Amino acid sequence: MINKKKTTSQKKATGKPQATKEKITSAAPATAKNLAKRETEVLADEEAVLGREEETSLREEVVDLREEVVDKREKVLRTHKKTSKARITLSKQLRDANEQLILATIHAQIMTEAAEQTVAIMTHMAEHDFLTGLPNRALLTDRLAQAIALAQRHGKKVALMYLDIDNFKHINDSLGHAIGDLLLQSVAQRLLGCVRLSDTVSRQGGDEFVVMLPEAEDVLDASYTAKKLITAVAKPHLVADHQLHVTLSIGISLYPDDGKDVETVFRNADIAMYQAKKSGRNNYKLFTPEMNVRAVARQSIEQALHRALKESEFVLHYQPKVNLESGAITGAEALIRWQRTAHRLVAPTQFVSIAEECGLIQSIGRWVLREACRQAQVWLQAGLDLEQIAVNVSPLEFHGKDFLAGIRKTLEDTGLDPHRLELELTESGMMQDMEQTMAILHALKELGVQIAVDDFGTGYSSLSYLHRFPIDTLKIDQSFVQDCDGEPIVSAVIAMGTSLKQRIVAEGIETKKQLAFLQSQHCAEGQGFYFSRPVAAEEFATMLAGRH
Ligand code: C2E
Ligand code: MG
Ligand code: MG
Repeated sequence: MINKKKTTSQKKATGKPQATKEKITSAAPATAKNLAKRETEVLADEEAVLGREEETSLREEVVDLREEVVDKREKVLRTHKKTSKARITLSKQLRDANEQLILATIHAQIMTEAAEQTVAIMTHMAEHDFLTGLPNRALLTDRLAQAIALAQRHGKKVALMYLDIDNFKHINDSLGHAIGDLLLQSVAQRLLGCVRLSDTVSRQGGDEFVVMLPEAEDVLDASYTAKKLITAVAKPHLVADHQLHVTLSIGISLYPDDGKDVETVFRNADIAMYQAKKSGRNNYKLFTPEMNVRAVARQSIEQALHRALKESEFVLHYQPKVNLESGAITGAEALIRWQRTAHRLVAPTQFVSIAEECGLIQSIGRWVLREACRQAQVWLQAGLDLEQIAVNVSPLEFHGKDFLAGIRKTLEDTGLDPHRLELELTESGMMQDMEQTMAILHALKELGVQIAVDDFGTGYSSLSYLHRFPIDTLKIDQSFVQDCDGEPIVSAVIAMGTSLKQRIVAEGIETKKQLAFLQSQHCAEGQGFYFSRPVAAEEFATMLAGRH
């Protein structure tokens, strides 16, 4: 474009006006006037031509410029088009990216919330009991540690109460675990209703709960709450159409009086609860240092029992059962003793319940059964006449795994005729899980084994069940035999047993008077110091040989 412009201005400076001047000089003969006029006209023409040329060149210039403008516009338009296209693409990309970013942010937010929720759920699960939703032992321990730290700073007390539902196993066994679980939930609600928000009610597992009062003023505070808990739980629980009655045993220990740390406070509350159970259940006991002495002794017995089993420190003594009319020995009851040291013979009352609690009773029971059957078979093979050998069976053995199989195997191994074996079971043991009891008793009867109810009259038993169970013998508890006021009960039991065609054995006959009364009531058999104390196997053999 710049080049074109230059060309136009060159034309103006060097072109046609010079050539026109030469033509005028050669036309001299024409008149001056005409010449002048002509010259003027020519000049005018030339000027007009020049003007036109200039105009043309200007027009050309304008056209050029327009073209240039059009070019530029086109270029601008093209660029603009390109730019706006790029802009559209870019903004679309930006929008997409933004959308993705928003989605990703929302996603991340959801993920974070889900992760936070999962963590919260897991923490809750780790710290709470699944069945009742109450804090578990771990959380309680944590809170107890905090409460102790605070109480220490402010010179206050913390009360810890160990709660155990009495005979809960009985409900679980007879009504099933589903009902048992519902009952536990109902108990948990009752407990929560008795305490303040700042207190903690926790479930330790099974039928055990712990209540912590972090701001207990004194022991009275704890006793007051314990009474409230016992009353609240004792009210009937309506569970799946069953009206259930349960009671609580509670042990209380205080910081700092009974323990300065979490572990001691816990242990002492447990020890106190154990004492509440021992003294009849449905009550509470405050921890005392003497309880600890007993608990330690119990612990050492537990350890020693393990050793006793391994080292064969147990022995059986035998007490005769006597026909009250003829005085003949009708059988023997095998009673366990523990030869703990060379001199000391420990009575079963000192260790059987501990063996039951620590789960050793099954192993001890298996040994007793085998030894009694073996001994009876030895006597029989030696020609001594023994109608029957009786063995005591703990409810835990009876309801335990493989009980029946163990009986069968022992009879097989020792070769004793099953009719000569009698198992003595307590009423309370029989009344647990009645369906199972019924099945086991019938299986035993099929085997030919005899069944006796021991300590009859002391436990809680359902007479209708006693009637339905295949029972051969009722052993009247010695407390009725020895107490003069017990005579009407003895008469009633003898009458009942006779009508149910059961054998009646009176336990604990110590005097001639007691014997006379029993004879007057037509009690067929008896057992007691009046005839003989339980004696070692050799002595019993001598007795057997002499009496027949
Ligand atoms: P039990 O089965 O009722 O046994 C009778 C208990 O009364 C025996 O006490 C016996 O020595 C005692 N006795 C017998 N006649 C008289 C008497 O005239 N007067 C007095 N005061 N007592 C008399 P023992 O041997 O100390 O046994 C106590 C309890 O320990 C037994 O009561 C039984 O429940 C349990 N037991 C004994 N041996 C075993 C066993 O091998 N296994 C299991 N699971 N328990 C056993
Ligand atoms: Mg017995
Ligand atoms: Mg007895």
